[in-house]
Amino acid sequence: MAERRRIVILGSGFGGAYCAQELERRTRGSDVDILLIDRHNYFIFYPLLVEAGTGSLQPRHAVVSIRSFLKRSTFRMAEVQSIDVANQTVAYQVGGRSQVDRVRYDHLVLALGSVTKMPNVSGLAEYGFQMKSLADAVALRDRAIQMLERADATTDEEERRALLHFVVVGANFTGAEVAGEFHNFLREASRRYRNIRASECNVTLVELQDRILTAVDPDVSDYAVRKMRARGMRIALNTTVSQIAADHTILKTGERLGTHTTIWCAGIAAPPIIQTTDLPTDALGYLLCEPNFRVKDTDNVWAIGDCAVNIDPAGTVYPPTAQHAVREGQHLARNLAAVIKGRAPSPFEFSSLGALAALGCRTGVAKVFGIKLSGFTAWFLWRTVYLLKMPGWSRRLRVALDWTMDLFFRRDYVELGLHRPKGRESNA
Ligand SMILES: Cc1cc2nc3c(=O)[nH]c(=O)nc-3n(C[C@H](O)[C@H](O)[C@H](O)COP(=O)(O)OP(=O)(O)OC[C@H]3O[C@@H](n4cnc5c(N)ncnc54)[C@H](O)[C@@H]3O)c2cc1C
Repeated sequence: MAERRRIVILGSGFGGAYCAQELERRTRGSDVDILLIDRHNYFIFYPLLVEAGTGSLQPRHAVVSIRSFLKRSTFRMAEVQSIDVANQTVAYQVGGRSQVDRVRYDHLVLALGSVTKMPNVSGLAEYGFQMKSLADAVALRDRAIQMLERADATTDEEERRALLHFVVVGANFTGAEVAGEFHNFLREASRRYRNIRASECNVTLVELQDRILTAVDPDVSDYAVRKMRARGMRIALNTTVSQIAADHTILKTGERLGTHTTIWCAGIAAPPIIQTTDLPTDALGYLLCEPNFRVKDTDNVWAIGDCAVNIDPAGTVYPPTAQHAVREGQHLARNLAAVIKGRAPSPFEFSSLGALAALGCRTGVAKVFGIKLSGFTAWFLWRTVYLLKMPGWSRRLRVALDWTMDLFFRRDYVELGLHRPKGRESNA
């Protein structure tokens, strides 16, 4: 009897999950076993994460259960500890167990995503918030509610303004969405607090470049800036943050901003575990791949999504987006099925369909199939596209119900108190 072959996929985010799903189809009835390892038994549907953080969506509706998404694959909820390419093994540890398990692979897929880029800014690790995990989203919402409660209780006007001032660093899609949604959240929530005026709730969006949302055309990003400023938001261009403290943040220009909440959305970095392998990477630690996703200088290691440098036929690196990770995952599954049958893998070619961003207050910006949109139309398109992209009708229905309820009823401003990032356990 032929020995069974094992494909091990590390990371069950957009790239890994869609790769496994397509592999299940392509290798049905064959001698291939698929094993996925991820520290969470869900993948985050990232486009909805910010809304999960501001309450227009239940946090658990912004994630997709791996066990319902996949049928035939084996899944281990575990932390990947090490990758031994020479011996074709991966070591992982299931949460709560002291034992480290090892598994041998015939093919290894690295789909480990990215982490938030944390430059050496004083106070960032201690006081900075992120928007990268479900815990981050819930922690930020809790933070906003704590700040509102504290602001309502103080008679010191300057302190109240600082408590109600959020600083968001990095104005690409995530930063712009976080800034727009939290500005809206704080101002709407202020109606429930007798001692807070909406005008006291403010967000400053800080961007190193001379415009926000650099992935869309300048006129679209200008529109976004105009809309955000008209709503009372401050946008500080051509600068960044040099220091973050408990009750203030200092810009590179020397300006001191009174704030207790700085959210770091300025870029991503390669997952640190890649550095522990001998696999080839670029200077920033991302895996270097052939156009068919095979990691350079290897036979049976493949990489997709944010953690990899995958290039298009013109030699340009595909951007780190969910849109690309999903297609890369599906294409890699086809390549793996081909290789297992003794055929050659094919290069990946994909042109971006466009970009969409929601900016809060039912406005958005978009460039889809070359057509530029802004305002309510872009926001509506954003919601429609992501609703349809959400896997499974039951989940789509839950999201649609959350959004409908949000249109007709006011949100509850209650702390969930479940997750607080390290260094943020106190109310500092
Ligand atoms: C807030 C936010 C909003 C975004 N919005 C959009 C959008 O609107 N449109 C869009 O196209 N893109 C968006 N993106 C980008 C998009 O989410 C990523 O490009 C995409 O998720 C990349 O897919 P991936 O499979 O490479 O990584 P991920 O989806 O991040 O998956 C990586 C997986 O690896 C797991 N993992 C990592 N290290 C380990 C380890 N050591 N052990 C075990 N498991 C591990 C993680 O738990 C995770 O599940 C957004 C990103 C963020 C943060």
